[in-house]
Amino acid sequence: MTVVGSFAEVRSAAPSGAIVGLVPTMGYLHEGHLSLIEQARASSDHVVMSLYVNPLQFNESSDLEAYPRNLERDVSLAADAGVDLVFAPDNAEMYPLEPLTRVVVSGLADEMEGAHRPGHFEGVATVVAKLFAGIQPDKAFFGRKDAQQLAIVSRMAQDLSFPVEIVGCPIVRHRSGLAMSSRNSRLGPEDLGPALALSRGLMRVADAVERGERSGATLEDIAMTHLEDEIGVEPEYATLAAQATMQRIERLDEPAVLAVAAWVAGVRLIDNVHVDFAGDAVAVDRGIRLGRPSVMFAEQGGF
Ligand code: AMP
Repeated sequence: MTVVGSFAEVRSAAPSGAIVGLVPTMGYLHEGHLSLIEQARASSDHVVMSLYVNPLQFNESSDLEAYPRNLERDVSLAADAGVDLVFAPDNAEMYPLEPLTRVVVSGLADEMEGAHRPGHFEGVATVVAKLFAGIQPDKAFFGRKDAQQLAIVSRMAQDLSFPVEIVGCPIVRHRSGLAMSSRNSRLGPEDLGPALALSRGLMRVADAVERGERSGATLEDIAMTHLEDEIGVEPEYATLAAQATMQRIERLDEPAVLAVAAWVAGVRLIDNVHVDFAGDAVAVDRGIRLGRPSVMFAEQGGF
């Protein structure tokens, strides 16, 4: 496996005619990232993982500074997972000049994360557009964990005619149910209980949907009550939104996502369940639970 720092090196490393699969990340890899790599590996010839903490998408400088980083660890995990090439650019490669051209995907960024993190999705869409333009992947793999990001990136690729297929991948969960996240590395074992309020509420939402509940207010209430009832959790939102528009909906009668955000021990956590329809039947994506200890928590000697 090779590690490079420039777009030119990424392009020249791709074997001619190879289907290039891109997995964009901000590093501090966990099993969520590894599952994206696995899915890229299964349907591409040459897997590129980008590893870049994008300052443009952080609305709080303290959050940017606190973001966990460890290149050596990530390179070793990526190599074991079958990545062919790691692209780890510095800020000068990514933004040689202050970017005057920014990508705004209007409408889709209005609610949920967009409402609570002003400018966040402009930073995300801009950096992802740069990765698509500079790397020219055939496929790009994104987690359903970041539901609004997945919707925004898909729409951006379509609107700007990037010849890339966007593949959305299920949420990988710790065996307790907690959605894997690089930010979990900032939680201690004592924070797991409160952090589990997010996934626990969402699993009850999934049960209710499977029983036939279609009222947005009732489904949001189930998730919000779990957050509010747990000491140590500061809820931000519980919202039912359409997958296509990321706008809030009052009835669950189209593909949708029930997304939550909350603070635990100074760490902002997000999670969701996607609901898809096949005719009248619903399919609720609860994600995938790890059957083994996580690499991240094992390193911390934690849960
Ligand atoms: P990040 O490094 O947090 O920017 O995430 C990089 C990619 O991994 C994004 O497409 C995320 O949606 C995805 N991802 C993060 N956590 C998970 C998870 N628990 N399960 C599946 N995908 C994830």
